[in-house]
Amino acid sequence: MITGTLKTTKSEEIFASAQALMPGGVSSPVRAFKSVGGQPIVFDRVKDAYAWDVDGNQYIDYVGTWGPAICGHAHPEVIKAIQETAEKGTSFGAPCALENVLAEMVIDAVPSVEMVRFVNSGTEACMAVLRLMRAYTKRDKLIKFEGCYHGHADMFLVKAGSGVATLGLPDSPGVPSSTTANTLNAPYNDLQAVRQLFEAHPGEIAGVILEPVVGNSGFVVPDAGFLAGLRELTTEHGALLVFDEVMTGFRIAYGGAQSHFGITPDLTTMGKVIGGGLPVGAYGGKKEIMEMVAPAGPMYQAGTLSGNPLAMMAGIKTLEILRQPGSYEHLDKITKRLINGLLEVGKETGHAMYGGSISGMFGFFFQDGPVHNYDDAKKSDTAKFGKYHRAMLEQGVYLAPSQFEAGFTSLAHTEADIDKTIAAARTVLQNM
Ligand SMILES: *Cc1c(COP(=O)(O)O)cnc(C)c1O
Repeated sequence: MITGTLKTTKSEEIFASAQALMPGGVSSPVRAFKSVGGQPIVFDRVKDAYAWDVDGNQYIDYVGTWGPAICGHAHPEVIKAIQETAEKGTSFGAPCALENVLAEMVIDAVPSVEMVRFVNSGTEACMAVLRLMRAYTKRDKLIKFEGCYHGHADMFLVKAGSGVATLGLPDSPGVPSSTTANTLNAPYNDLQAVRQLFEAHPGEIAGVILEPVVGNSGFVVPDAGFLAGLRELTTEHGALLVFDEVMTGFRIAYGGAQSHFGITPDLTTMGKVIGGGLPVGAYGGKKEIMEMVAPAGPMYQAGTLSGNPLAMMAGIKTLEILRQPGSYEHLDKITKRLINGLLEVGKETGHAMYGGSISGMFGFFFQDGPVHNYDDAKKSDTAKFGKYHRAMLEQGVYLAPSQFEAGFTSLAHTEADIDKTIAAARTVLQNM
């Protein structure tokens, strides 16, 4: 199963037991490493830019629990604040002053957000925002893009990204065609396709949802004019523009992709970073639209643990650390150093690679590129990626276990970590 010198006896034992207890041995599909050999590393602890597995191996971590660990794992200020907050109880199921604090921080930071509702995951945020789009516009149809991931709710599981792409799954069984009948798909970066959908369904489309920078079919950036074009088209057709910033929010800039690109959507979903490693999601936007949400308005959405003090505090501390001067400069600098180094090593060793980064988010594909959408991404050499991934683990580098996931850096990653990673990549690719 495992080749090489990495000692993984305990990881193998634990994962083998897990198989009988949980479907595929995991609580979320991509964690099973199915597309890179099927033997995941079982973590014991994480700190700063590093992860340690149950066999005692140390890795430089570029997954960062899929984005939330942007300040570095187990940041002392975040941990201390969580501990102190926990002393007062973990959930109130009643209003809590910390909700106001995080809400104000989000509203100040994210240009489109005038009001916000907290939920417990990105999936929940996207489910709710779709209901809100429909409630507000009184229209049912939705445009999304192939290879974008908006969580695991039925309406979005058509040509979706993330684990759906990694595992090469067709649209999921258990999703009735009636729930996806109103989901229209277009290729990413294809404005003409979006225009045609609007023309084919006049007055029926509630809005367009997208990852403003894609991380769930690998790292794919919007072409010049794509986001602005969507802004124009949605406005022209009386539809809403929704940025799913669950991944990009507070990551590619403090104000998310919308502040990076200067395009303001009507609604925004958030998650990952905003919870600082605890379960938080959020959706927000123009006050006029958000006031449709119960109890201010008639659109129902609720949550027992929503806005709980522990999760709010983790989010608040994380954003406080992030908004200190120099944070995004650091992320940008080290991530550029990383991706440039990785691509350079590809060139040196004669392996076709294409990739890029924005602030603390990066990605690369084993192919010549360019990659504008999911169909382009699929041309990558996934078998080569699988070998590379395994060999990088052997070298102490933990990358996302799929060619179709973005990578993440944190404030804790140092230039020395980056240089070690590049040296590891050189060793690996020279021998492939
Ligand atoms: C991770 C992600 C989601 C889903 O969030 P969960 O917290 O995993 O439910 C939705 N949209 C995007 C863009 C994501 O990256």
